[in-house]
Amino acid sequence: MVVARAESLCEYCLIHEEDTFFGCEVDHIISEKHGGATDEQNLALACLFCNRNKGSDLASLAPGTDRLVRFFDARSDQWSEHFRLESDGITLVSLTEIGEVTARIFGFNEGERLFERDTLREMGRYPTAAAWRRIHGTAGGTPPPWIRKRT
Ligand SMILES: [Zn+2]
Repeated sequence: MVVARAESLCEYCLIHEEDTFFGCEVDHIISEKHGGATDEQNLALACLFCNRNKGSDLASLAPGTDRLVRFFDARSDQWSEHFRLESDGITLVSLTEIGEVTARIFGFNEGERLFERDTLREMGRYPTAAAWRRIHGTAGGTPPPWIRKRT
C-alpha cells in the first residue's frame, strides 16, 4: 500500500526505488518513539538516505532562530509547495521553512546524492514521470514527451 501510493518514489527526494542503490524503506512520519502509529496516515516511502538522516526527528530549528519548524509531511503537504527542482535538474531548492529544515536535515543536496541524481538525470531516470507530476503539482499538466517515456 505504502509503495503503491508513493508510486515507488521516495516521497521526500523523489528518487525512484529501483534507481537508488540502497532501495527505499517505510518511514514513520511521526516516529514510533514519539508515539506515531503504524497506520497508513503516518507512513511514507523514503529512500535510505532520507530515512536515515531523518532518524526519529520530527523538526529542526529555522535558520538563525530558536524556532522549531516541523518537517515536510508527505501525507498532508504538497511537495511542490515546499520544494522545487533547480534548473540544473538535480538540486532540490526549498521554498518554505518546512522545506528548508527538511532539505537540510534529510541531506537532500549532499554531494553523493547530487552525483546519484546527476547520473540518473543523464540516463533519463530523474525525474521519472511520477516525480515530474509531484514537482509540478496538480497545475503542471502532462509531463513533456521526453519525460513521459521514463516510467
Ligand atoms: Zn529520499
